[in-house]
Amino acid sequence: MNDRYARSKALFAEAQQLIPGGVNSPVRAFRGVGGTPIFFSRGEGAWLFDEDGHRYLDYVLSWGPLLLGHAHPAVVEAIAAQAARGTSFGAPTARETELAALVIQLMPGLEQVRFVNSGTEATMSALRLARAFTGREKILKFSGCYHGHADMLLVQAGSGVATLGLPDSPGVTKGAAANTLTAEYNDLEAVRQIFTAEGEQIAAVIVEPIAANMGFVLPEPGFLEGLQAIAHQYGALLILDEVMTGFRVSPGGAQGLWGLTPDLTCLGKVIGGGLPVGAYAGRREILQLVAPAGPMYQAGTLSGNPLAMAAGLATLRAAFDNGGAPFAAAEASARRLADGIRQLGEEAGVPLQVGQVGTMFGFYFLTQPGVRVTSYAEAKRWVDPSRYARFFWALCERGVYLAPSQFEAGFVSTAHTPEAIDQTLAAMREALRA
Ligand SMILES: *Cc1c(COP(=O)(O)O)cnc(C)c1O
Repeated sequence: MNDRYARSKALFAEAQQLIPGGVNSPVRAFRGVGGTPIFFSRGEGAWLFDEDGHRYLDYVLSWGPLLLGHAHPAVVEAIAAQAARGTSFGAPTARETELAALVIQLMPGLEQVRFVNSGTEATMSALRLARAFTGREKILKFSGCYHGHADMLLVQAGSGVATLGLPDSPGVTKGAAANTLTAEYNDLEAVRQIFTAEGEQIAAVIVEPIAANMGFVLPEPGFLEGLQAIAHQYGALLILDEVMTGFRVSPGGAQGLWGLTPDLTCLGKVIGGGLPVGAYAGRREILQLVAPAGPMYQAGTLSGNPLAMAAGLATLRAAFDNGGAPFAAAEASARRLADGIRQLGEEAGVPLQVGQVGTMFGFYFLTQPGVRVTSYAEAKRWVDPSRYARFFWALCERGVYLAPSQFEAGFVSTAHTPEAIDQTLAAMREALRA
């Protein structure tokens, strides 16, 4: 390694003394690509600037929230204006209802929304609610799907757990994990068998509508619909975890795109516009169980604070303004990028699996041509993380920042112009050669 990242390295050494692993969230440590993490000091539009003075076209976008790119003027202005009036009152504000109304307008299947502070809180609370509603204890999730770090969900989890190849986490009690059943993504037959055996005890199935924490794996046609049918047949709920896909794969998320009406929906990332926000939402009949409307307890000192609501409102309004033109442009850029990557792979004779929906994309370096990844088991089998690692660093040198792991999705913002995409593809062509 040269000194290109000298200041990042020094900052990382210092951070490691005081913060476990030097980071506050594991994937940031770059274990998935080797080397040490790049420390950033500034973001503007599609660009990120590192501590050593380099700039990068950013396809991580804080792992999804920054649908408008970095420091969008409307978001900066909304945050600054609200900050000057106070950041949190611990009391209701009009903004919470405003954001709830906008979310429901964009996702018409939702009737009520409860705001929390992260995606983790959203999934944890939605599962508590599903258990309260059904009076059952078991849940079913899919290998490689990540739903935040609540104990009961750290079973066969994706994201950092997949990147680091960790077994299920120590500290999770047998009791907490015992009620979590797992199946492979896209394996409806396995789901059917599990429900046949213990369907009467299952409160809910929780699923990412696109498995984007183990790379980028689309649901096979009929998979999500089949899940819902099986769950309902046994009186269980379907929870769609749209923390990542919400307002990203279409204005109405995956449910809007594919005409799904899950019983509960988890949101996060984009609805906070870069500030910490999550939400769980769904049918009124179910949400009415949440305290103080009902007996299921869930609370938060900073939940729904006006600063975060302002950032979320500004982000959604700007993205879907003007008949949704900014979002449509970002989507077109994502398609241009995915098509370009596919073409580069063909040109270079490198077997790739490329996917893109809305403003999200992902690609795998496959170990051989002709295979297709539809589950986490297949991802582990057919994907070559070392090749991705070399590609990642070659791109960093050329001013493009992808997720520092093969097992994460990529994101495009409204600030990514067609020129920025072409510049990215040119860098990728060089990186593939190198
Ligand atoms: C990011 C993510 C979460 C967790 O959200 P945090 O805000 O990191 O707690 C949950 N589910 C999915 C699908 C995610 O992508």
